[in-house]
Amino acid sequence: MTYGIILCSDLDTNLPNEVSEIFNDVDLILHPGELKNNNIKNELEKTAKLIEVKDTDLDNYTFNHKIESSDSNKDNIKITIVYGDVYPKGESDDMEKVSEGDLSQIYSIAEYLDTDILIYGNSSKSSVDMFKDKILITPSFNNEGLSDFSIMLMDIVGDELIVKTFEIGKSISTTLNINLLTKEKVKEYSYNNFTVVWNAKKCIHAGECWRNLPEVFKPAEKPWVKINIKSPDEIKEVIDKCPSGALSYKEN
Ligand code: SF4
Repeated sequence: MTYGIILCSDLDTNLPNEVSEIFNDVDLILHPGELKNNNIKNELEKTAKLIEVKDTDLDNYTFNHKIESSDSNKDNIKITIVYGDVYPKGESDDMEKVSEGDLSQIYSIAEYLDTDILIYGNSSKSSVDMFKDKILITPSFNNEGLSDFSIMLMDIVGDELIVKTFEIGKSISTTLNINLLTKEKVKEYSYNNFTVVWNAKKCIHAGECWRNLPEVFKPAEKPWVKINIKSPDEIKEVIDKCPSGALSYKEN
């Protein structure tokens, strides 16, 4: 089962062809908000069944994804989609509305909800984060057009959650693999045919990467690997110096 995740309610344009191509094989499209552009809505509905979370500020939508793994002690993963401006049911007296990019409010919602994966839409930056034992996912959009616009493909294969984020119009994608049981993370940063792989658990933060190529490896930023800034050969040379084996690369 593959999910497409998109946040583009206010885009005053048609759906870019690139989005239809990426969503071509998805089973379900999730939109954490209400789609106001009917052209985009119709185009998405031609591709797959669409789930929106509409103008019910206090509401959210949770469903179960059955996981198939003999090792797993979990049968289902709970996925929740919340509207951009939201407070959880019953908590509205204690909580203020979520304002743009206010992660502390998202963390409060995540803590309150009985779910494994929380998909929200209140950020102009895409991210896949962990908060306690919850996974928080948001694609990005920009009211001013297609810049900083990203969509996601989410798959659950056995115990692995795989979220691939595509930056529309830039040939850049980031893939995060999280083991839902151990919470071990592996990230992949791709530009055209070149991919840098980073295993967070192996990294000893020795700094070899950012000292040798600070334009590419920027630990204070998200995504922290700027894959398109230098040539693959320059990046490979630095990856080969990583003392822990946390960094590797692929070419396809
Ligand atoms: S060089 Fe390798 S171990 Fe050192 S900080 Fe970079 S990724 Fe981590």
